[in-house]
Amino acid sequence: QSKESHQPIVTFYERGMDEMYSHLVDMEPVLRKAMNDNEFQLYLQPQFDFDHQQLCGFEALIRWQHPERGLLSPAEFLPYIDQLGLSAELDDWVLNEAANILMHWKRLFGMCWPIAVNLSAPQFQHFQLIEKMERLQQEFGIEPEWLELEITENVAMSDLHNGMSVIQRLREMGYGIAIDDFGTGHSSLAYLRSLPINKIKIDRSFISELQHSNNDVTILKAMIRLAHGLGKRVIAEGIETEEQQDILQKLGCDMMQGYFYSPPMRQQFAEQFIERQIQGNKKPLPRDVAAA
Ligand code: C2E
Ligand code: MG
Ligand code: MG
Ligand code: MG
Repeated sequence: QSKESHQPIVTFYERGMDEMYSHLVDMEPVLRKAMNDNEFQLYLQPQFDFDHQQLCGFEALIRWQHPERGLLSPAEFLPYIDQLGLSAELDDWVLNEAANILMHWKRLFGMCWPIAVNLSAPQFQHFQLIEKMERLQQEFGIEPEWLELEITENVAMSDLHNGMSVIQRLREMGYGIAIDDFGTGHSSLAYLRSLPINKIKIDRSFISELQHSNNDVTILKAMIRLAHGLGKRVIAEGIETEEQQDILQKLGCDMMQGYFYSPPMRQQFAEQFIERQIQGNKKPLPRDVAAA
C-alpha cells in the first residue's frame, strides 16, 4: 500500500467500516478501546541479510483483531486514526508493544533481534519523540540497536528543519532510521545527502515487475549505488519470487523482505523463527555491518 491509501478518504460512508459507524466521531471511542484492550496486534515480518545469509530483524506491522469484523489490515483503519488525530497515541501503543516484545525476547533468548516500527507522519517533527525513546531506554531497558524507526520519504522531506534535528538526535542515541517506501515520494538527492538516516527501504513498486522491466533494473541499480555511495544500507520490500531475489542480490542489495521468505506473522511464530536461527548458531548482527 502506498501512503496515499492513508490519506483521508471519501469511501468511509460507502464501504469498509461504514456498516457499523455512520459518523467518523463514532469511531473514536471504538479505536481508543481497541488500543486499551489490546485488540491491536503487531505482526512481525522477517528481514534477511544477504551477505550473512541469516535473519537480521523484523518489521512490525499492525493488525486489528476486531471483535466483529475479524482481522483488519492497516489500510482499513489507519485513515480514521489519522483523521481523528489519534496517531500519536497509536505510535505510543506501537512503541510500547514493540518494547514488550523485545523484553520478552531478552528473557526468553538472552538476546534481541531488532524490530523496525512504522511511525505515523507527524512524530518526526516533534521533540517528544526523543523523550519517548529516552523513556523506553530508562524504564524498559531497551537498547537503541534493538529498534529501528521507519519514516516515509515525504515526511522526511516535509519539515526538514525540525525533522532533521529529531532524526539527528535519534541517530546519536543509537536508533536506526530507515526511509520507507523509498522512490515513491518527492525526495531530492540533496536532502538525501544531508539526512542522517542509515537505511533506505526500496518500495515494492520497483520490485513487483522487476523480472520484465529493464527500466526497473536500471533504476534499482542506480538507487543501490547511490545509497551505498552515501554510506547507507539498502533493503528491498515485497520480494515475492526467487528471480526477484536473485536480481536484487546481483545488484548488491543488502537485505530483503517479502512473502517469498515469509508473510508478517504472529509473535509466537516469529519466536519459532528465532529459535531456528539460534539452533543454527546465528546471532543478531551488529547494526551497521559494512554496506558497500
Ligand atoms: P509498509 O511499511 O511499506 O509495509 C509493507 C507492506 O507490504 C505491509 O502491508 C506488508 O504486509 C506488505 N508486504 C510485505 N511483503 C509483501 C510482499 O511480498 N508482497 C506484497 N504484495 N506485500 C507485502 P500492511 O501490513 O498492510 O501495511 C501497510 C502499511 O500500513 C505499511 O506500509 C505502513 O505504512 C502502515 N503501517 C503498518 N503498520 C503500522 C503501524 O504500526 N503504525 C503506522 N503508523 N503505520 C503502519
Ligand atoms: Mg514500513
Ligand atoms: Mg515500506
Ligand atoms: Mg511500501
